[in-house]
Amino acid sequence: MVEAEKSEDSVVFKCPKCNEQEISRTKHERAIATKYVCPGCGFEGPN
Ligand SMILES: [Zn+2]
Repeated sequence: MVEAEKSEDSVVFKCPKCNEQEISRTKHERAIATKYVCPGCGFEGPN
């Protein structure tokens, strides 16, 4: 089991649109404003 990019700086939240899929982002990803796409409903956003 490889533990990569897993730190207290990562956040996991539910998709704000469908509220079903969980999305995780790291502090780094937020810092560089990586977009995320919900695998369930296709919602994408920066926050
Ligand atoms: Zn969703």
